[in-house]
Amino acid sequence: MRLTTIFAAITCASQAVAAPSVLTDLAPIHGLVSAVMGDVGTPTLLLPPRADPHSYALRPSDARALSNAELIIWVGHDLTPWLADPIAALAKDAISLELLETAGWDRRELHDDHGDDNDDHDDHGHGDYDPHAWIDPAVAAVWVGYIADQLAVVDPANAAKYQANAGSYAAELMRLRTTLKARLAPASGQPIIWPHDAYGYFEDAFDLLSVATIADAAANSPGPAHIAQLRNLPDVACVLADPEISDRWTAVIVEGTAANSGMIDLIGADVPLGADHYINTLQAMADTVVNCVGK
Ligand SMILES: [Zn+2]
Repeated sequence: MRLTTIFAAITCASQAVAAPSVLTDLAPIHGLVSAVMGDVGTPTLLLPPRADPHSYALRPSDARALSNAELIIWVGHDLTPWLADPIAALAKDAISLELLETAGWDRRELHDDHGDDNDDHDDHGHGDYDPHAWIDPAVAAVWVGYIADQLAVVDPANAAKYQANAGSYAAELMRLRTTLKARLAPASGQPIIWPHDAYGYFEDAFDLLSVATIADAAANSPGPAHIAQLRNLPDVACVLADPEISDRWTAVIVEGTAANSGMIDLIGADVPLGADHYINTLQAMADTVVNCVGK
């Protein structure tokens, strides 16, 4: 065989190499990774869009997905404490990128106004830091760089592509942050009751006010005394439910008050998966807040 033919054969072979097997935890993280992978491949999503990340039981197919993964990209054990052991046991050879453990962004502490007035939530598995950090696009923009770095480790042939995708996507995320800040300006300073203690990064990024949350950071059910307290808060503009905190609670809280209610979703369960998922989810969150406050 002539040398040029051999080179051609090698090139063809390397192009046919399968995309790396990448597993992600939540739909928005799947979206970030999809944007960085671009046309190289598609990551796998572990949690079904409507699953509660705070409490989830792995299915046999999830165990298979974990053992097949070369790279696992997840928010971290503060959000999904149940996922740390299966990763250690089933995905020993995989690289684990725990996004909450990365540097270059400011961690925020949890609120203390979620009202543990009727029980003890100290053992719910969360640390003192808020694990719902993806909902600030500036944090997501930092994470995208780490995602590209680890993709390059498992798939060096496409490293340049991952870095280029991450660079342009991070810039897009920062533009999104500016757009959403303008969109949310009318809601700034309005008293809002949030579903569970999960929206602090969103509040900080967009100058939104929290007067209380219905539930704590792990989305444990609120007690009757706490609900009564929320009903008595003055001048509340908007009370929000989310997929983890039922709108039955918001109905009870707004009844007989001037407050509006709405449904916000930081996981984007109704948003189609893929490279646009993250941005569409954040846009829908902003629309929900503006509509709820401005009704
Ligand atoms: Zn949560």
